[in-house]
Amino acid sequence: MDNKVVFNKELIRRYDTFGPRYTSYPTAVQFTTDYDDSDYLRWVKHSNEDPIPAPLSLYLHIPFCDTICYYCGCSKLVTKDKSKAEPYIQLLKKEIRMQGALFARDREVTQIHWGGGTPTFLNDEQIYDIIACIRENFNVPSSDKVEFGIEVDPRTVDQQRIKNLANIGFNRISFGVQDFDQDVQQAVNRVQITEDIKQRIDDARTQHFQSINIDLMYGLPHQTLESFSKTLDTTIESNPDRIAIYNYAHLPEMFKPQRRIKEEDLPSPEEKLNILQLCIEKLQDAGYVYIGMDHFAKESDDLVKAQQHGSLHRNFQGYSTNADCDMIAMGVTAISRIGDNYSQNVRTIDEYKSYLDQDRIPVFRGIELEADDVLRREIINDLMCNNNLDIEKLERRWGIKFKAYFESSLEDLQQMADDGLLNLEKTRLSITKTGRLLARSICMQFDRYLQEKQSNRFSRVI
Ligand code: SF4
Repeated sequence: MDNKVVFNKELIRRYDTFGPRYTSYPTAVQFTTDYDDSDYLRWVKHSNEDPIPAPLSLYLHIPFCDTICYYCGCSKLVTKDKSKAEPYIQLLKKEIRMQGALFARDREVTQIHWGGGTPTFLNDEQIYDIIACIRENFNVPSSDKVEFGIEVDPRTVDQQRIKNLANIGFNRISFGVQDFDQDVQQAVNRVQITEDIKQRIDDARTQHFQSINIDLMYGLPHQTLESFSKTLDTTIESNPDRIAIYNYAHLPEMFKPQRRIKEEDLPSPEEKLNILQLCIEKLQDAGYVYIGMDHFAKESDDLVKAQQHGSLHRNFQGYSTNADCDMIAMGVTAISRIGDNYSQNVRTIDEYKSYLDQDRIPVFRGIELEADDVLRREIINDLMCNNNLDIEKLERRWGIKFKAYFESSLEDLQQMADDGLLNLEKTRLSITKTGRLLARSICMQFDRYLQEKQSNRFSRVI
């Protein structure tokens, strides 16, 4: 079946605007400090009392990096001093013990993801130590039953480390590459040797990682259509299972490291659009399926199968096949989702220590979803993941009349339908092949908070 998305430059130009990535709805902009650790405890208790409690997904945030990438918009701590990690590990283990004690022991962990920062800033003994603590405090089945993923900076690993990570139990690995071009790498201060990266990917394959991902970024300084075409060729040659291509949003007033990127070195909006078109066409021609929101995967990948079955989900780590997990996110800045609420941990290690020293879960803000939020979250998830909304089913489940409930969005949705981005029928809304690249813009029609004119806090859709 031909499921290739269609790149329509004119429509992309027309609908390109600032918008959220919808890894959550409502987005973190709506979190408030009215919500604190006592609310979190209450929600965890409710979640344990569900007749069928959801399985658990764990996220561990390691905030350290040993060099700064100038494009970075993440929360991280840059240091060459490896000794800084040990006190943080002790705090993280304390949070793991405290969190583990809150959840009913029969709730299985089905997914563990390590992100950062740079998780491989830690050495293998330190990673092993944290995992042993997780196993002591949570109900973790044998490694092959758990999606066990880690984000890796290729500069921090060699063949032996890849082998060690596999032996520790990781079965999914994501390499942060961004671009193979040396000029681009110099301009963003992330210089890495192509042959080394390719070798590490081969090492991961030899170690039977179930899924290997490469992260790329377009819109970086000195990128041209020609240079990025070569980067895509090298990526395709490396044969990863998944490829994520993120749009670089240049917001130097918000992210200090980006002030070291010269604006005149950035590709023009037109060139960026051409690069995006090249990505879509080249990866699809190479057999990758466009999942949505910057993500591609091989036809045989679980994400593609889940999308075909209408069961794909989206969370803070991107797309996931794990539907109804409660996500416990640990470490500084980490965002949890328990039932119908989100909560975020404090941002600095000092604050983190202060909460944990008082035996408090380090949550400083969050949001409890109202029924309207849950309804809209369901719609946005369906559209972002499965390109389809079963209006009839939605109306039955929620006891609403779709047209009446979303009356204020109907005109814009109809315009999108007239432009060929979606089909709007009485019982179904489906995104067309042309609309797939603008799914975010379609979802924005269902985002109540965007009415409050906060859209300029987000990056552009494309
Ligand atoms: S992009 Fe990743 S590795 Fe680079 S500074 Fe940011 S968090 Fe660290």
